[in-house]
Amino acid sequence: MSKARKSCGGKREKSKGSKPVAKEQVGEEKVTFNISKEENFSEWFTEIVKRAELADLRYNVKGFIVFQPWSVLAMEKMYRFLEETLQRKGHKPYWFPTLIPESNFKLEAEHVKGFTPEVFWVTEHGDGEKLSERLALRPTSETAFYKMFSYWIRSYRDLPLKTYQRANVFRYETKATRPFLRSREFYWIEAHCAFASEREAMEQVREDMETTKEVLHDIFGLPFIFFRRPEWDKFAGAVATFAADVLHPDGKVVQQPSTHLLGQNFSKPFNIKFRDRDGREKYVYITCYGPAVSRIFASVIAIHGDDYGLRFPWRIAPLQVIIVPVASEKNEGVIKKALELKEFLLANGIDADVDLSERSVGDKFYYWEMKGVPLRIEIGPRELEQQRLVVFRRDTMSKEEIAEIELLSYIERVSKEIDKNLIEQADKAFENRIVDAKSKNEIAEALDQGKIARCNFCSVSHEGEKCAEVIEKELKARVRGTRLEPEKPDGPCVICGKKASAVVYIAREY
Ligand SMILES: [Zn+2]
Repeated sequence: MSKARKSCGGKREKSKGSKPVAKEQVGEEKVTFNISKEENFSEWFTEIVKRAELADLRYNVKGFIVFQPWSVLAMEKMYRFLEETLQRKGHKPYWFPTLIPESNFKLEAEHVKGFTPEVFWVTEHGDGEKLSERLALRPTSETAFYKMFSYWIRSYRDLPLKTYQRANVFRYETKATRPFLRSREFYWIEAHCAFASEREAMEQVREDMETTKEVLHDIFGLPFIFFRRPEWDKFAGAVATFAADVLHPDGKVVQQPSTHLLGQNFSKPFNIKFRDRDGREKYVYITCYGPAVSRIFASVIAIHGDDYGLRFPWRIAPLQVIIVPVASEKNEGVIKKALELKEFLLANGIDADVDLSERSVGDKFYYWEMKGVPLRIEIGPRELEQQRLVVFRRDTMSKEEIAEIELLSYIERVSKEIDKNLIEQADKAFENRIVDAKSKNEIAEALDQGKIARCNFCSVSHEGEKCAEVIEKELKARVRGTRLEPEKPDGPCVICGKKASAVVYIAREY
């Protein structure tokens, strides 16, 4: 225990000053993680991805990375919550081909215009023999799903049709890539639904937003705001786009799930018709929803992590309990007990492991704190004898002692407290991050403080695009859109001074 720092609310000294750096302990392995997330988020993020072994960036295709077990295990859990929720709400799972023929892709004009610059094309096979048609590595699968919808939907009895798939998608991003936030291949779920009426389609859009709250906020602990995107920033081919923006500690927003009302924009070119009760043939109304799990994971890292490394909400932690035997000599009894505890926890549905590595006890503590394991159980000869356990909580960095027999009920209670605590902290950090701005200077000031600016704006239809361009050019920020319940402007457009018709939110993004 010699290197373990004080427990029970004892805080490690934070590295202060202009440029905190990752401190290394003496020894061959880097153990401690101590970077100020607030002061140097970018370095913090890069360093935690590497040190917690979330992704290896050395793969030799530009823009592609290897996701490592610590992130995959968490993302698998995230997938499970999203899929269970979708299935509970009536979506059926599908697995669609990765390749989409160019002829499908070209059917919807806006869609092809929007996505073509980002498409990877497969054009040949074997020794350079050309394919008869170019095939897109799916950047998104509307044009694959809707081709099949046109076969599957015949009558109003086939509606609503609610589908989804979990898939990896490919986009040739030209902006700088960043692990999890933006890479040329990412992992997501895309849900596609068809309805008999626009009203039902719009209800689906609302259900998607509710799903986002239930899973992203209530389970993953991420605060966000849903915005209706302005006309010039809609999904390619959509009637309306609604997207959840998460604000990261560096003041940049990330678009997390978006849900789109596609109306009949795709059902007409794809000829998706149904015979209605009145005997007439009609085009269906379509919606799609896309939570990008690997990108949501970026927000989990960014929102919950602290100066000592990662922190995970209980239900998505790759490992929930790490057991560290604490004995000066190799103590067979202690190790046996630790292994028994692990089996006991696993049998009760708790992801647990024992650290039997050769690292020192102190280094083990630092290591698992950096990895963000929510609970650590310490067990030594004294605990063994007294049938007690020392438990350390990563969220509060505090220790307490419990009777071994209470372990399950303790975990049952504390796991809920951990989630509540992380969600409250995240929500609190998000509070007061929106400020009203009446001029370009006030917008700039808000953005420089890592906030989102709320402004009067001339128009969110195409007439407003010129003012949005000014914001992009001069303030390096974007108009994220309006609230779902539109707010009333109380002054002229913050950029052109003309009469405002909307209240918009402006933020910087990656
Ligand atoms: Zn304007």
